Amino acid sequence: MYVPQHVRNLKPYVPGKSSNELFRESGLNRIVKLASNESPLAPSANIIAAMQAACANVHIYPDASGTELAELLGTHWQVESSWIGLGNGSNEIIDLLIRTFSNPGDRVMASDCSFIAYQVCTLAADREYVSVPIANNLQIDLTLLAKRAIELQPKLLFLPNPNNPTGGYLPKSEVIAFLEAMRGLPDCLIVLDEAYNEFVRAESPLSAKELLLNYSNLCICRTFSKVYGLAGLRLGALIARPELLQFYHRVRNPFNVNSVAQAAAGAAIADREYLSRVQEMIWQGIDLLNRELPHLGLKVYPSQANFVLFDTLRDAQLVFNQLLKKGLILRPLQPYGLKTHLRMTVGTHSENEFAIEVLAKVLATVETIKPARDFA
Ligand SMILES: *Cc1c(COP(=O)(O)O)cnc(C)c1O
Repeated sequence: MYVPQHVRNLKPYVPGKSSNELFRESGLNRIVKLASNESPLAPSANIIAAMQAACANVHIYPDASGTELAELLGTHWQVESSWIGLGNGSNEIIDLLIRTFSNPGDRVMASDCSFIAYQVCTLAADREYVSVPIANNLQIDLTLLAKRAIELQPKLLFLPNPNNPTGGYLPKSEVIAFLEAMRGLPDCLIVLDEAYNEFVRAESPLSAKELLLNYSNLCICRTFSKVYGLAGLRLGALIARPELLQFYHRVRNPFNVNSVAQAAAGAAIADREYLSRVQEMIWQGIDLLNRELPHLGLKVYPSQANFVLFDTLRDAQLVFNQLLKKGLILRPLQPYGLKTHLRMTVGTHSENEFAIEVLAKVLATVETIKPARDFA
């Protein structure tokens, strides 16, 4: 069978271990999965009721333009509804943006150690992926990124803020300075990926509207998979000027977002109390981990997201395997070139305490391979 070379070159996606799988294999009575930055809380009763109501009508195709949801999201994010596009998770939006705004062979850029989907979608679409080194403190180096972009003239550039898997946050002033530097590249679409926007405590977030009005080559991605707890339903949103959005709509499949997801998202943004509950739980969890993990000799990186990255100073795969045997699933980061680091999603208070306890036991049994020293 003929298969294009760029497809043959793709590596199969290896999913993390699921709780069910580990449960069957291990016979452990408690398994805690903190590996995928999912919400620790199930949707609220209001959100579930909205989904159930939508289920009664699934014999009808979904609203292809997501009109009602776009109205609600526009009001919520203070932009016109014509500035809102929907996707089957922001993963699909990333994929579609690449196919909409570049040709095969064109360059797509990002920083090392940022969300792996940028690279995967770029290579799957037969574009060239170029990433620039991340700084020693694992913060995205915006000065280097702008400099390399101006040399290499990519058609798209992805900027996750906060970043995954580091949790690092770029202050508004630095993002603005970067966007100013990128004015020299009007044909490069800059995709600001704000999947963790609602977890930021450092400062009030940038206004989407103001940004999009000031920078005509910018768009913003949001998702319902994280703070809104709808990862299983697959819903992402794209905020962009209609001049750009019209091309996104031409490329996407008309029914890419199902009707249950559309109903759930509308109910989720209306449920302010649910949002605060999740935020409070995550912020308390982050504070707990920042306090406790350093006592275990771990280097914890500052996070403005719902997870923390830490350096175990050990072979992270070994630590990961030992944690699994005790029922804790974290995320090893070799695909990002981080061989001694693990990423831990914030769970419920009880899950976090379980994780700290299991980490303490396992770290005592695995040899360190790196001297403990503070990062810059
Ligand atoms: C989790 C995540 C997403 C969201 O993906 P969905 O496809 O919407 O579930 C997007 N960007 C980043 C950086 C993420 O970490």
